[in-house]
Amino acid sequence: MKAERLEFHISYQCCNHCIFCSEKNRLKRFHGLNPTFREIADVLKKKKAEGFSYVTFTGGEPTASGNLPFSLKLAKLLGYRTAVTTNGYAFSDIEYCRKYLPLCDEIILSVHGPSAEIHDRLTGKNGNFERFRKTIGNIEKLDPERIYLITNTLLLKQNAGPLAELYNMICRFRCVKQCILSNPAPEGGAFTEYDSIAMPLHEAGKRAMELAGIVKKHGKIIKLFGFPACVLENPQECSNDFFWSPKVTVERSAAKGITGLREVYSERPVRRRHYSRKCSECAYREKCGGFFNLPH
Ligand code: SF4
Ligand code: SF4
Repeated sequence: MKAERLEFHISYQCCNHCIFCSEKNRLKRFHGLNPTFREIADVLKKKKAEGFSYVTFTGGEPTASGNLPFSLKLAKLLGYRTAVTTNGYAFSDIEYCRKYLPLCDEIILSVHGPSAEIHDRLTGKNGNFERFRKTIGNIEKLDPERIYLITNTLLLKQNAGPLAELYNMICRFRCVKQCILSNPAPEGGAFTEYDSIAMPLHEAGKRAMELAGIVKKHGKIIKLFGFPACVLENPQECSNDFFWSPKVTVERSAAKGITGLREVYSERPVRRRHYSRKCSECAYREKCGGFFNLPH
């Protein structure tokens, strides 16, 4: 199937130290090796010519590098729909928002708890929850209808209870159109911490459905990422797997001491996920990406 969605890692720096950071090892390995303006321009032009229409700029933290303004301006000139994944770092400054929000169609903003006590602890830095509050407040003030704001939250042992309070708080913002709730992937920092952060799968599925109910009650869209369909009540409605569209990820690579960029095609949401023997007879096998940890 042809991909039209591009995910471009333009930053290998981040101000946070999230205990679950799936990019932790790559941020260390490629520190100081953000793509150059020339590399970014070449990729955006080539992919546009190949028919890509949507680009998400990600990292690390894209707003922590000087790459983002250049990337957004060029992507818009070329006619892309643009999205930025962010922890709210530079967007917490209203002047930065005034300059660069007009170049964004979607913002995917991470938040992992309803208070500084929880969010700052999980993201490893004091002041992060305040930055999140400022960012969401800036977007609500400047462009609440046009910007498609998606919140991105991990469901962990440490925050499973308080997330009800978080959703009741953020769903009141007009700019929030969708909430993504993710089961942590055993990758990077989350791989070493997996036992201490990941909930037992059936328990996680049950809690995810309860939280999905809160989001839906507020009239917002909820998508659950990284949960196998068999632990969800109505996967056709809320599993991100059922709405997956193929994407190409462009990221830094190094082979034999030579750095470059590589492309990874993801036709299905199966990264780091597994199937068991039972899956071969499952009615959801076509859509479901499998499980990170054992569901059966
Ligand atoms: S904000 Fe994102 S890139 Fe930065 S440490 Fe946290 S998970 Fe990793
Ligand atoms: S394919 Fe496997 S993991 Fe997915 S819903 Fe079916 S049984 Fe569960």
